[in-house]
Amino acid sequence: MPLYEYFCEDCQKEFTLLQTTDVNKEGTECSECGSNNTRHQFSSFAAKIQGKPLADLQKPATLDDFPNKDIFKIPPARHISEL
Ligand SMILES: [Zn+2]
Repeated sequence: MPLYEYFCEDCQKEFTLLQTTDVNKEGTECSECGSNNTRHQFSSFAAKIQGKPLADLQKPATLDDFPNKDIFKIPPARHISEL
């Protein structure tokens, strides 16, 4: 069963539910206050299925993201006559 994220308009809380794909998402009740004034948050769900929060995906790659840092150790330039 997939995880679905919802936002409750009444108590302004986000909650996550395990639901079957054929459930009626319009009538989902808030797990906090029981209101069915809830919104299905598809974009947030889509970002999380990739295993990382969206903020992580947007951050530029750093040296720590590479398993082999030695590839960045370029040997010092030599004068052409030394070759
Ligand atoms: Zn609520």
